[in-house]
Amino acid sequence: MTSTQDTSRRWLTPKSPLTGMDAGTVPVTDPGEVAAVVDRSRQAFGNWGFMTHAERKPYLRAFAKHVLKSMDRIAAVIVSETGKNLGDAHAELIGTMTSLDFYSRHAADLLKRKKGGSWPFLVTRGWTEYHPIGVAGIISPWNYPFYLPTLTAIQALAAGCTVVIKPSELTPLSGQLIEDLAIEAGMPDGVVQVVHGDGATGAALAESDTDIIAFTGSSEVGKKIAAQAATTLKPILLELGGKDAQIVLEDANVKDAARAAVTFGVWNGGQQCVAIERVYVVADVYDEFMREATKAIKQLTAATNDHRDIGPFISPDQAEVCKQQLAEAVGKGARVVAGGSKIATDHGIYFEPTLVENVDHSMALMQDETFGPLIPVMKVADQEEALALANDSSYGLHGSVWTRNKRRGHEIASQMKTGTIAVNDHLINFLYPTIKFGGIGESGLNGQLGEEGIKAFTIHRSITSARFRPTTKLLGAWMPRRVGPRYWKTLARILFGWRR
Ligand code: NAD
Repeated sequence: MTSTQDTSRRWLTPKSPLTGMDAGTVPVTDPGEVAAVVDRSRQAFGNWGFMTHAERKPYLRAFAKHVLKSMDRIAAVIVSETGKNLGDAHAELIGTMTSLDFYSRHAADLLKRKKGGSWPFLVTRGWTEYHPIGVAGIISPWNYPFYLPTLTAIQALAAGCTVVIKPSELTPLSGQLIEDLAIEAGMPDGVVQVVHGDGATGAALAESDTDIIAFTGSSEVGKKIAAQAATTLKPILLELGGKDAQIVLEDANVKDAARAAVTFGVWNGGQQCVAIERVYVVADVYDEFMREATKAIKQLTAATNDHRDIGPFISPDQAEVCKQQLAEAVGKGARVVAGGSKIATDHGIYFEPTLVENVDHSMALMQDETFGPLIPVMKVADQEEALALANDSSYGLHGSVWTRNKRRGHEIASQMKTGTIAVNDHLINFLYPTIKFGGIGESGLNGQLGEEGIKAFTIHRSITSARFRPTTKLLGAWMPRRVGPRYWKTLARILFGWRR
């Protein structure tokens, strides 16, 4: 706490995982104060929600441009409270800009009214309109502390909603920047607000008078949000944990597949929902894959200097999860090929980039989310075994298939039980704004991105309009009754009997 801080308030002071020093400070929003913030958001919605897309667009474009101009400032804040590699912080901003650019430009097109075909009621027209749902509550995690809340917020804002964001208590400064940048870019008062605090503030937001809750975080908390929403039937979007599988077939570019396994196994220190956390390699190319992956992983550094490939864990607990999962796997016969140790230094706690083989599905390492730089690899007989094992998971977020035969890749992708799949790449879906991103099973509900993402923040209002007389009257349905069962049966045969 600094000497100028109001001592009657509680403050959040995240510490740099690299230096242990205070990264900054923000006031906690007590759960009892959340309702007033939501009220202010609703007042702002009274104006923002009733603008046309053309009226909102200049504000959204100004916000997107201001974020682009502020990249160094944002990356510095991200690094200060997550300790991640500066390059990873900038890469996070590529994802942010991709969706800011897409939704700030295309909201009008994405939300234009959708006409329905009028068969068999030719005298009635029908269409669906998409109106902003109102105030959106956004609760987000620490691993991509600027990208994730901004990604959700831009979809809500472009749909015409106002937003109240609750960033993770571990990374409040990156979350606060979203409100600061929105105000600096000229966004009207109250359209973007941030509240701070731990799960209690998050729960207060989820229980408040918002019209939708978009939650990104662990499956455990996601289930609590779902249970709470069930009492009011409030719409929710859940982006939860993952246990992504990579399938490497005998006709793959094995060197690329091995480098991808290492890259997306350890990117952001493995602290990402779409990390490669399980690899299934067909026996014919297994030795080559392991040779290439070992070569690649041994070139990586953790915890050494500014050029390190991975940063420290944001919380020491995560190193313990890695240690325990690895110890259990080794106890059941797994073999550590590279890495395998926790490293505690005076600039953070790390886990070595780690490659493991001889694993199976009895191990937590192959079942539970790790959220650390561990890459377990399993040798499989063929495509069928790879697919069956990849699908043997309670999670269903993302996955990838590696083969030179694209058609084969697409067929396997269609059979994977996940919401998103990449053929000959990984993670790219998370940055791809034009198609939906979202998990199934324990990985989420409803999803975001694409047309579906922005539409999730709208009320789908369907309207019919009689062209000249009411269809129900022309059909003879009105009271007092003039037709009976024979009429309805004959009508059904006339309308549908001739159709093949
Ligand atoms: P977390 O679930 O612990 O916390 C997420 C947010 O929820 C935080 O802001 C936290 O304060 C808040 N929260 C905690 N309890 C709450 C409650 N009862 N009600 C309302 N809010 C509450 O997750 P985390 O540790 O910050 O993030 C890591 C998890 O997030 C991992 O499981 C990861 O896979 C997942 N994640 C998923 C995606 C995705 O797009 N699917 C993206 C990033 C991270």
